[in-house]
Amino acid sequence: MKFISSYRDPKLAKRLHELIDQLVSRLERQGVSRIKIMNFCGTHEHTITYYGIRSLVPSSLDLIAGPGCPVCIVPAGYIDTAIKLAMEGVTIYTYGDMYRVPGSYESLAQARAKGANVKVVYGFMDAVRLARNEKKEAVFFGVGFETTQPTLASWMVRDAIPENLKLLLALRLTPPVMRYVLRKSRVDLDGVIAPGHVSTITGAKAWVFLSKEFNVPTVIAGFEPLDVLIAIAEILRQKLHGYSRLYNEYGRVVTWDGNLRAQEITDKVFEVTDGYWRGIGLIPSSSLRLRDKYASLDAIDVYGLKIEKGIDTRSGCKCNKVILGEAKPTDCPFFMKACTPAHPLGPCMVSSEGTCHIWAKYGGRLLLEKFELE
Ligand code: SF4
Repeated sequence: MKFISSYRDPKLAKRLHELIDQLVSRLERQGVSRIKIMNFCGTHEHTITYYGIRSLVPSSLDLIAGPGCPVCIVPAGYIDTAIKLAMEGVTIYTYGDMYRVPGSYESLAQARAKGANVKVVYGFMDAVRLARNEKKEAVFFGVGFETTQPTLASWMVRDAIPENLKLLLALRLTPPVMRYVLRKSRVDLDGVIAPGHVSTITGAKAWVFLSKEFNVPTVIAGFEPLDVLIAIAEILRQKLHGYSRLYNEYGRVVTWDGNLRAQEITDKVFEVTDGYWRGIGLIPSSSLRLRDKYASLDAIDVYGLKIEKGIDTRSGCKCNKVILGEAKPTDCPFFMKACTPAHPLGPCMVSSEGTCHIWAKYGGRLLLEKFELE
């Protein structure tokens, strides 16, 4: 017997579909001709595309993918630096998707084919284990949003990192980039579906500024199809009644304050600083760096590195615009021609959380019948 999660219940989906249709019709009667809702998170984009939710909602409702792919926004200069270290004989440990993201001229995978010393790991624990066993100079090249930061920090707090392992980290914070999108992007948003996983750490409170400062209805949502449909309906309902507030649809996991222990550990090890986002630029208070106490672990200090400004955007690639919701993957002339998941030109085509990659795999799908598991 097939298991169907209650968050994939076809009857509830049908009712939500009808509700969304009604809300959009009522907004259209009020003179609203276009409604734009941004989902921050790559996993929400996966749900929307995989389940064909765009095929379900009225055509005047745009579901726009946002900047929630941590691999996509790592500046090319970090990849170039990791390649340089690897070519000099330092072992670089990194995640599988980071391994394939193009730097200014090549990816770590391409550099490895030329003899660079690069190994793919599933997580930081693997890097620690390998460094202990191999006893060679090594650097863990780590990236991530708020969900990955406490795990890294916990290793440092426990003083459990072998001496031969250093860290090259491109850690970024999500609320500042959403603030940037609302201030700078050319997309006027009517609502935001805020990230579920990140909010388990930050708490719902991290997103209240979207409704308070920007007057944008905001829903923290889970990742099942019904979670997303509920989020869309709630945003439309708020817009129809002319108010904006933060609604936590993912209350089964996300609390108001989030994971206080994880926040405390992260704060012990890292401090907030301005951060450069690939193809976008410098965003205030959007990055984490190691506190002075942990400087001996920082590959940048230990190897006297300078992260140069690399070539973030290759000619014609619209990844930076896709990340800000200003373009769709299909607006790019290379999409599924010169740029495919097997031969990615830009970072958005590499990661499973990258919008181009998701559209390449599942784009054009109609609503999966009854949301059944395959
Ligand atoms: Fe960049 Fe490829 Fe996406 Fe085009 S399809 S925007 S080249 S990643």
